[in-house]
Amino acid sequence: MSTTDSLWINGEIVPLSEARVSIEDRGFQFADGVYEVIRIYNGKLFALDAHLRRLENSAAGIQLPLPVNAASLKSEISKFVSRAAIPDGMIYLQLTRGVAPRNHAFPDCKPTLLFYARTLPPLPDQPAAEGVKLLSVPDERWKRCWIKSIALLPNVLAKNQALAAGADEAVFVENDVVTECSASNLFAVIDGRLFTHPVGPKVLPGITRALLFELAPSLAISAIEQPFGESEAIAADELFITSTTREISWVAQWNDRPIGQKQCGPITKKLYAALRDRVRSQTA
Ligand code: PMP
Repeated sequence: MSTTDSLWINGEIVPLSEARVSIEDRGFQFADGVYEVIRIYNGKLFALDAHLRRLENSAAGIQLPLPVNAASLKSEISKFVSRAAIPDGMIYLQLTRGVAPRNHAFPDCKPTLLFYARTLPPLPDQPAAEGVKLLSVPDERWKRCWIKSIALLPNVLAKNQALAAGADEAVFVENDVVTECSASNLFAVIDGRLFTHPVGPKVLPGITRALLFELAPSLAISAIEQPFGESEAIAADELFITSTTREISWVAQWNDRPIGQKQCGPITKKLYAALRDRVRSQTA
């Protein structure tokens, strides 16, 4: 059984095809759970500690204690991945409140914790030749977007609205403030400085986003957490989106408007290269 065919669930490893979840799992009935996506490069986990810290915060945000401590979870995930022959991929991890007769009140039950691996195509060393296209959608999500909740229906609907309009990703706009995208954070380069909306009620503390804040000073780029409007974003010199699976994708178009110089901008290129270097050095 290769690791891509198996699943870790509550301390046991079972074939993925045989894994079952109860219809009374609260993740299934209430979306009562949280999740993480962790990148594997060169067979090694990237930014695992940061993902586990965010998992703990998300779980605390829904009053759900982790069923195992972060150190044992780290060792379980690491063991699982080191047995895997996956050069490039990801771990999907999900924690739900567990299985109990359906009732809104918190039950007294054991949480369901599971994770499994998936392969992903390797990321290129240079930014893609083509940029992504964004479509604005109203931000109809809840006000606890800092929790990486499995309740993703507004994100799913927004993404599909973008795809139906010929775009690649939906960007949430609320009262003319741009928050983030359906599955990524958004950055704007304006007059040489990097701007992104602060994390909190409307923005997930993205791991990739945090890494860019770490890398920017070494490139003499100032990175500023500050809300900005849709018209400022569309007029930005460069725009890009970030996530664990995509790293950095430059934005070529927003609704029907071209962005910047219609190519990956110089600051985005610098950050792209710095992030690739960081990944390479930590997963060598
Ligand atoms: N915002 C949202 C809504 C997301 O779903 C994601 C991807 N998980 C991100 C931002 C980017 O976060 P990360 O860099 O940790 O993948």
